[in-house]
Amino acid sequence: MGSDIKTIKSTCKSCHGSCGVLIAVEDGKATRITGNPESLTKGTMCAKGQASIQDVYNPNRLKYPLLRKGERGSGEWERISWDRALDILEEKMSTAIKEDGPESIAMTQGTGRGYNRYTFRFARSIGTPNVGLPAHFCYGPRLAVFGNMVGGRLYCDYHGWGGEFPKTQISWGKQLEITNADGEMAVWFLESLKHCKNLIVVDPRATRITQRADLWLQIRPGTDAALALGMLNVIINEGLYDKDFVENWTHGFDELRERVQEYPVEKVEEITWVPKEKIIKAARMLATDTPGCIQTGESLEASLNAISTISAITSLAAITGNIERPGGMVNWVYPDTDEMEKFSMEPPVPE
Ligand code: SF4
Repeated sequence: MGSDIKTIKSTCKSCHGSCGVLIAVEDGKATRITGNPESLTKGTMCAKGQASIQDVYNPNRLKYPLLRKGERGSGEWERISWDRALDILEEKMSTAIKEDGPESIAMTQGTGRGYNRYTFRFARSIGTPNVGLPAHFCYGPRLAVFGNMVGGRLYCDYHGWGGEFPKTQISWGKQLEITNADGEMAVWFLESLKHCKNLIVVDPRATRITQRADLWLQIRPGTDAALALGMLNVIINEGLYDKDFVENWTHGFDELRERVQEYPVEKVEEITWVPKEKIIKAARMLATDTPGCIQTGESLEASLNAISTISAITSLAAITGNIERPGGMVNWVYPDTDEMEKFSMEPPVPE
């Protein structure tokens, strides 16, 4: 008798991406995960998603609580019951709260898959504000700047659903082609490159995507804000900005104009190590060959100047009129999730 093989349509949740997948199940056991060509992600998956079958079958995965037996680092562990694990946690946390106060306890978690709010609620319930998330240096800074500057979240319009694709793209400290889900999906980015006239890549390293670039700005790490200010300087001083957009949809333009005077291209070349001719060329491309978009990534967010850098880059998209136009940057306004926020922010439980 042959084995019973089924294919189940599902969704990968090894990151936020939710790629459509097909899971082959043989005799009740999942044996293979592949991309679903009929899904929005068109059958593509990243390496992590393909390896996610190991979440179920890897013999080394964690299946129950383990208590360290030997010295830290000795690798000696003892399996314990959930009841015992919870008793130990309760005892250690109560002692810490009694002796040093609730703020002596810090909680961290991995990237949220919808359960962040339980962590916040738990932390508030015991009275500690100390919660650490990957979002603090990955995506959080972008969202904070976007929320502050445009009231939503900016995404490159790679899809062409509005009738236009980005003609000029800047991939700024970002390798969407390998990271996949981060703001957008790699498949849409790669397909949009067929329609992209000017691909500008800002990256200190040569990558797969720098080979495709029309202009590669090989920047000194950590100087991205200066590069953005230098490009703003060129666009403003050459009068290449979108005057209608600036007049009707921005505020603070005069202050921006004044500030960027401190960053002439000669000075920016010294700071960033990017030749001034390339800075000027990139600025002109973005401002004149529209629509265009700028894809940023986590590398900027993990830098010391994250907020200033992303703010300057967002200003570039704004004054070139590339926000909320087909082929530019879509401003997505997050739906109201008020009840869920209330859940996580409930006051601490009474003693
Ligand atoms: S990007 Fe990778 S990990 Fe994320 S959902 Fe898609 S396949 Fe899974």
